Amino acid sequence: MGLLKKFLENKPSVDDNLETIAYLASLDNLQKKAPRIAHAIIEEIQRQRNSLKLIASENYSSLAVQLAMGNLLTDKYAEGHPHHRFYAGCENIDTIEAEAVSLAKTLFEADHAYVQPHSGADANLVAFWGILIKRLEQPALLALEKTNVSQLSKEEYEKIRLQFSQQKLLGMALDCGGHLTHGSRANVSSKMFQAVSYGLDHRTHLIDYKEVRDIARREKPAILLAGYSAYPRLIDFSIMREIADEVGATFVVDMAHFAGLVAGKVLKGVYNPILYADVVTSTSHKTLRGPRGGFILCTEAYKEFMDKGCPHVLGGPLPHVMAAKALAFREALDPSFSSYAEQIVKNAKALAQALMAKKVHLITNGTDNHLVLIDVQRTFGLSGRAAENLLSSVHMTANRNSIPQDPNGPWYCAGIRLGTAALTTRGMKEQEMEKIATILYDLFKAARPSEDPKTGKPSLAKASIDEKVRERAKNEIAEMLSSFPLYPEIVLSPETIAV
Ligand code: PLP
Repeated sequence: MGLLKKFLENKPSVDDNLETIAYLASLDNLQKKAPRIAHAIIEEIQRQRNSLKLIASENYSSLAVQLAMGNLLTDKYAEGHPHHRFYAGCENIDTIEAEAVSLAKTLFEADHAYVQPHSGADANLVAFWGILIKRLEQPALLALEKTNVSQLSKEEYEKIRLQFSQQKLLGMALDCGGHLTHGSRANVSSKMFQAVSYGLDHRTHLIDYKEVRDIARREKPAILLAGYSAYPRLIDFSIMREIADEVGATFVVDMAHFAGLVAGKVLKGVYNPILYADVVTSTSHKTLRGPRGGFILCTEAYKEFMDKGCPHVLGGPLPHVMAAKALAFREALDPSFSSYAEQIVKNAKALAQALMAKKVHLITNGTDNHLVLIDVQRTFGLSGRAAENLLSSVHMTANRNSIPQDPNGPWYCAGIRLGTAALTTRGMKEQEMEKIATILYDLFKAARPSEDPKTGKPSLAKASIDEKVRERAKNEIAEMLSSFPLYPEIVLSPETIAV
């Protein structure tokens, strides 16, 4: 490839281009050692550049964040937590993890942070088990005047273990916007807990706090969980806190999707989970724009139990990713991140407004956060799957999503979920959102479900469309993307990318 050589031909300042040089050198090196992998990375850069990324859970991390992960930290085992390790030689990992913890605490104004979870799903598992251990195992140990589970007899331990499986988790139902890890039968969370869920008001599709309270009173969950993957509105965490207190539940918020909006101080007061929850779990790679990973924030009372993510749930932490998390937290502390977070929401509102002006049916009739949920079945007679395929064919990436009481089930779905975090990172504003709404509307309006060859009925998987309409959408998207280059410093000319 010779990407670096080509870049250096123009004699750029090394100091001003450290990230680019390091990135290109790494690609060139990979080309020598693993050409297929290098080729796939280059192809992925091109694919991302040439696509309008509307996937609500994705973003573009900075080159600095990406580079922070590519080093020898990956070689180090560091089970335990800073200054309390089960492995030798962890002094430098202590520095890195302690820095990430300290930055996360500052950024979110939290009592404590645990930055080891490898993903959002892992963060939830660490939180759930830590809470159960605090609620069940610790009091049992105290009552038996023991300090450690290994001091318990087989019978004493079995009695506690059985109690674990009798606890309830109350979270938002999957088809109403909750996440798999919030008690879905397909996920281990419904096997460790008796999972109970709250839905949404049938008419408004908003959280019905009265219903949540009624279910909580009836079910007495150990954990009340708030948070979502596909709910376009804000949650009043003060009410959820009240409900949790009334029934003696631990209040957990999964802010995986909206962590960036909390960090950017867009979600304040009753909408800021840190002020109300005992434990807040998150990913670092969605609106927060960091490396792929998870983390947990909690009050002092839960600190000891979250810090034991390893050995409870996790194996060795990923020190290279913790280094990148530290960098991402630092980036989010920059005042420009607040403007970014505000723009994400302005863009989502503009997108929603423009779609609604065309009579597109949105779940909850709009948005207050970074995502918009379209009922494509009701508006255009298309399944979510067919709509997703159509979008992919014009280089718009968005995913199909269930909507409340979805008529098409969880595979085909009736909804399309759009998110504005990634396009906002690319620099797009309200004007571009209006254009996107028009492109999307024209495309869906011109499409018809294809005929299912087996049944002769309208297909839930595919739609057909006039090729001229498709071409026009493709061209409009390509033109829009050309004004918002992605990682423009990574210059790929045809001769350098040929492998
Ligand atoms: N929690 C919520 C609310 C999510 O939306 C997601 C991912 O989409 C997760 C947890 C899981 O995150 P990860 O994919 O990093 O495990």
